[in-house]
Amino acid sequence: MIVNDHSRDHVRFLQLHLGGDRNFQYLIGDARTGDAAAVDPGFGAGTFAAIAQDQGLSIKTILITHGHCDHTGEAAALAELTGAEIFAGNPEVVAGAQPLVDDQLVRVGGLVVRALATPGHAPDHFCFLYEDFLVTGDLLFCGKVGGTGSFFPGSSSQEEWDSLQRILLFSPETRVYPGHDYYGGPGEMKVSTLGHERDHNPFLNGTGFAAFCALKENWATFKQENGIR
Ligand SMILES: [Zn+2]
Repeated sequence: MIVNDHSRDHVRFLQLHLGGDRNFQYLIGDARTGDAAAVDPGFGAGTFAAIAQDQGLSIKTILITHGHCDHTGEAAALAELTGAEIFAGNPEVVAGAQPLVDDQLVRVGGLVVRALATPGHAPDHFCFLYEDFLVTGDLLFCGKVGGTGSFFPGSSSQEEWDSLQRILLFSPETRVYPGHDYYGGPGEMKVSTLGHERDHNPFLNGTGFAAFCALKENWATFKQENGIR
């Protein structure tokens, strides 16, 4: 289903929920050429292709934020349905994928999407930036950050911190489109901005890396004390 339609002018930008653990997928398209990119097709390849078609778009590109299966599960199926090219930080996560390098520019019709290497939650993690739309995958959620530690092979809290500092250099108005609907605060929050996260995300509004690590250590208690699900 379509969660948010933030399309403007000829740019199509849809936030989707097609399954998984509150996973979000994204459709980025150029209505002038009819070309689109599908981000993180972990679920619902058929529905993903149908939603694109309803928008008058065909998926030519598949972008993977990182190799966890809830972000990649149906990438091969979607590529088979659409003939799309797959790009991933680690091309081994999906058969036939091409590797992304930092700051690579990926063309989606007339749109140019910038791929940003943002390791931390996973070593192969990328964010995708088009103008003020930033798809943050499992680096940054509304009010949270991606998990690190032994549960996530190859993860690094130091790299995640550095990646967060990198994206926070973009304009505070930059919109944050996360990989999961993990917000646990009051009301609903499926989309944020970098400025809002810098000021309100408990992992980012502390005193630095030591506070960031301390909160990761104490997250279960912090969540309980603050009523975060
Ligand atoms: Zn993940």
